Amino acid sequence: MADQDHEYGFGTRAIHSGAIPDPVTGARATPIHQTTSFVFDSAEHAASLFNLQTFGNVYSRISNPTVAVLEERVASLEGGRAALACATGMAAQMTALLAILKAGDHIVAASTLYGGTVGQLGIGFSRLGIETTFVDPEDPENFRKAIRPNTRAVYGETLGNPLVNVFDIEPVAQIAHEHGLPLVIDNTVASPYLCNPFAFGADIVVHSATKYLGGHGTTMAGVVVESGKFDWGSGLAAKNFPEMLEPSRAYHGVKFYETFGDFGYTMKARMEVNRTFGATLSPLNAWLILQGIETLHLRMQAHCRNALRVAEFLSEHPLVGWVNYPGLPGSPHHALAKKQFRPVDGGPGASGILTFGIRAGDAARAGERFIDACEFLSHLANIGDAKTLVIHPASTTHRQLNEEELARAGVRPDMIRLSVGIEDVEDILWDVDQALRKAV
Ligand SMILES: *Cc1c(COP(=O)(O)O)cnc(C)c1O
Repeated sequence: MADQDHEYGFGTRAIHSGAIPDPVTGARATPIHQTTSFVFDSAEHAASLFNLQTFGNVYSRISNPTVAVLEERVASLEGGRAALACATGMAAQMTALLAILKAGDHIVAASTLYGGTVGQLGIGFSRLGIETTFVDPEDPENFRKAIRPNTRAVYGETLGNPLVNVFDIEPVAQIAHEHGLPLVIDNTVASPYLCNPFAFGADIVVHSATKYLGGHGTTMAGVVVESGKFDWGSGLAAKNFPEMLEPSRAYHGVKFYETFGDFGYTMKARMEVNRTFGATLSPLNAWLILQGIETLHLRMQAHCRNALRVAEFLSEHPLVGWVNYPGLPGSPHHALAKKQFRPVDGGPGASGILTFGIRAGDAARAGERFIDACEFLSHLANIGDAKTLVIHPASTTHRQLNEEELARAGVRPDMIRLSVGIEDVEDILWDVDQALRKAV
């Protein structure tokens, strides 16, 4: 959505980008095109679609008009050139990386990633012959030290999950670019409302749209977004990624960068990975995520506001030992949050996730008792819902890890993670307080 003399704001783009009233029926809402396939006008039209000479739809594993609205909307919200929607966040990451990696290649990634991603890169990809070195993201130089001749991507998360550590995108992007490598950023926890990683030099953004984009805990989806600024065609990048330039063996000899330019990466991901491996998003799920995105700007403000209130309340609570939330001025990541995140109420909007520990002799057991004592806070393994969610990672999401592995992941035995929702904050504070009293 663009106009020569006017730049639309985030909220307007969240509601309109990618969508127009349906030209056939006049329907104002985006129709759910629940169809597998699309009729060709003629044999010639069909041939030009298959040759990628004409834009249009063939089969919904490759593209679908409802899914395309979501793709264009997320690309717009991220300030990117093009996007590709996938079945889940995990599928989006896999698609983003397999578009440019093959057996024998190497990834340098932050060690504080979402647990599922550590498993995907560390175990899943290593079975395909792609190795990952995990480094402490606190010092950007750690990424440089781990880059090898066969490294093909650098990977991080704007806000880690569950540590909510803020990733310093700018220096790591610079290091990646010096080596002709793209920086891939998972922007799930910040959402495009709070942070646009492209503005700090990232090249590819991935989302679990399951979380804040959808926003209501109903729908799995993922999105890959391309900035359009990474030059695949010259210098070290051209040496690192000859498959962006050479005729594609996986798709009719198309030269993706030459043919599609600043959205060549997205076309490669769509035609060589999504089309071939099939982790496609369904039109209905795309539509449900679009419904969520229409209120993303309002919900994120409310999540940030409520989370800060809860963090302040916990910081002053006599039964709480520690609180970790980058929105708190005392947080070691507060300055970086200020640099990278949109302000909400004067401070950096630091999203809705925070962690804390209970002050008790048996802190780990107290964490479990706290969760059992909550009245309306939901005990489950998700984040980014309108509802407040609570979990004790050491006894659930991270229970397979031994003490040393927990320490490396930064998961203290007493850590409780809250995904603060958008209910009335007085009610959230009440539930947290009464559960704390029952826990000790
Ligand atoms: C949930 C999550 C994922 C995985 O997304 P799914 O939609 O569950 O597949 C990836 N990264 C982060 C940061 C997440 O929170």
